[in-house]
Amino acid sequence: MRPDFHPDTLAVRAGVNRSQFQEHAEAMYLTSSFVFKNAAQAAARFAEQEPGDTYSRFTNPTVTAFQERLAALENAPACLATSSGMAAILCTVMATAQAGDHIVASNGLFGATTQMLSNIMPRFGIRTTFVDTTDVDAWRAAITPQTKLVFTETPTNPLLQICDIAAVAEIAHQAGALLAVDNCMCTPILQRPLELGADLVIYSATKYIDGQGRVLGGAVLGSKEIVVGKMYPLMRTIGPTLSAFNAWVLLKGLETLRLRIEAQCASALQLAHWLEAQPQITRVFHPSLDSHPQRELAARQQRHGGAIVSFEVTGGRTAAWHVVDSTEMLSITANLGDVKSTITHPASTTHGRITPEARARAGITEGLLRVSVGLEHLEDIQADLARGLAALAHSTQPSASLRSA
Ligand SMILES: *Cc1c(COP(=O)(O)O)cnc(C)c1O
Repeated sequence: MRPDFHPDTLAVRAGVNRSQFQEHAEAMYLTSSFVFKNAAQAAARFAEQEPGDTYSRFTNPTVTAFQERLAALENAPACLATSSGMAAILCTVMATAQAGDHIVASNGLFGATTQMLSNIMPRFGIRTTFVDTTDVDAWRAAITPQTKLVFTETPTNPLLQICDIAAVAEIAHQAGALLAVDNCMCTPILQRPLELGADLVIYSATKYIDGQGRVLGGAVLGSKEIVVGKMYPLMRTIGPTLSAFNAWVLLKGLETLRLRIEAQCASALQLAHWLEAQPQITRVFHPSLDSHPQRELAARQQRHGGAIVSFEVTGGRTAAWHVVDSTEMLSITANLGDVKSTITHPASTTHGRITPEARARAGITEGLLRVSVGLEHLEDIQADLARGLAALAHSTQPSASLRSA
């Protein structure tokens, strides 16, 4: 594939390696193992002296095609696909840290990532310090001589706080540590962390890359030295490998990723403006709104604010649940990135297991709702939310954008 092709072209053409049948669409290789011409070839393949597939826990042509296409879109030297986003994060931690090492991580990470770093990794001797995502000085202060990995996510979910990737990359590199960015919310279409100085980019492909709620998958991208040299040997041994079927679904997902995400982003921004004008809403969170305190940073490192909008209604949990339960179309589910719009009450679902104090510190209030905007017509999404909002008390204070105007 010519490297000078535009990303749109790479999204539909990269990674194609036709079989002897000259199929037009990408083939799906549902096979656990591969056969050899003779004993010598088997020995050479197992010894990695001859390129080629051996066993699908190691490599598989459909998985390789997905890896090549995602690497082309990210402009990354190497990509390793995994069975889920969490598997990608586990491989990242296991390949970059060992017992006695230290990690500095954002306090706004995906719930299972926070759980892994705070409750599971300490059993293996890896400690993590969590810092305010937006506070560059806090990142610097948390670094120790044992810090090997710095881990962030931006924008965060559900409050859409922005981490300054270039600044945190510099802090990590001064300490001889690597920076990994979970880029799930943006995808390579909206944000390219490697170009901002990150060493590794992580995806839950389950979200926007699939985009149609079908399969789980994940990926890590970065240098050949880390991804091929350190992560691949680990993965082929411990086995969090992506299945060929899921790789095929995700490969097709990449073909329409830009069109989907741009349409979803455009609707999300319009929805955010509409929500700001609703009297029952006290605050709207979206990186492209004037009221977002890091709007300029977001505009610098992202091509668009994204397709997630969060907002706070007056009346706490009762009111928030009323809005959720009054919807007829939006899916009540914690998933995001789907072409079907979803609505979540973070305080009682994704953030339900942390203490009320920790929740309050994190800014996850009882009136907070998160909408992942899909591809339905914007007017239908608005009407679905308006039904529940209509019954709520009007806010006594003007919404955030009016306040700052
Ligand atoms: C969903 C998600 C993950 C975990 O991905 P799975 O595919 O569910 O394992 C990790 N990070 C972020 C930001 C996510 O949204």
